[in-house]
Amino acid sequence: MITGKLYIISAPSGAGKTSLVKQLRQEMDKLVVSVSHTTRAMRSGEAHGGDYFFVSVEAFKAMIEQQAFLEHAQVFDNFYGTAQKTVEDNLAQGLDVILEIDWQGAQQVRKMLPDSASIFILPPSIDILKQRLQNRGQDNEETIARRMRDAVTEMSHYPEFDYLIVNDDFELALSQLKSIVTANRLLQTTQQQLLAPLLENLLN
Ligand code: GDP
Ligand code: ADP
Ligand code: 5GP
Repeated sequence: MITGKLYIISAPSGAGKTSLVKQLRQEMDKLVVSVSHTTRAMRSGEAHGGDYFFVSVEAFKAMIEQQAFLEHAQVFDNFYGTAQKTVEDNLAQGLDVILEIDWQGAQQVRKMLPDSASIFILPPSIDILKQRLQNRGQDNEETIARRMRDAVTEMSHYPEFDYLIVNDDFELALSQLKSIVTANRLLQTTQQQLLAPLLENLLN
């Protein structure tokens, strides 16, 4: 069985990674998005187990003790983490897995799984980033100010990533994201296994 590819996607809050990944999942098969655990409050419209597993700080700390996380980090004032087992099970089944995590988590995952590919999403400008956070209408002014302060730190980590995408025109950014996944699926090392019967036939 061919294992899936792990993609790490990072961006400053509001750059559009969740919207892009949601659409990507609808347009490509054999792709799953990892649902993180978080201690932050649920936003209106979010669902437990859909957007995140919303847990208490105590429950989160217990999972750290049990070594249940592939990676975990404090982002803004909350804890976020990726459960190891689901990621590994999905990859083992040949599915590509997407992690939407911050730069600290990205560093941890790269170290553990060097075969992963990482993508950084940039906003077209600082002003537009702020506008998107405001238009999203989910965070109060103080939270937005906090996220804007951390945006530059997050973006300063772009050189650690394999791919860079600017999310200005949504459809363009989406097609660029699709191209990355498609190109990886076409790698000779992957194709060689998938196309074994054809290759056998052609070469004999
Ligand atoms: P949004 O990205 O603005 O929608 O805000 P969120 O509250 O959903 O995410 C906040 C931050 O936490 C972002 O930088 C995410 O990339 C990061 N994040 C989300 N899930 C995880 C995770 O499982 N692990 C890590 N390390 N970071 C995460
Ligand atoms: P993130 O997950 O990176 O925090 P979201 O996906 O929640 O970002 O997007 C932030 C806001 O910006 C949302 O309201 C979303 O609809 C909007 N948005 C995302 N991409 C674009 C784009 N290319 N042009 C305009 N608005 C966008
Ligand atoms: P939000 O709270 O707005 O959904 O997410 C804020 C930030 O937390 C995002 O930039 C997101 O990338 C990061 N984040 C979400 N889940 C995880 C996770 O599991 N691990 C890490 N390290 N960061 C995460």
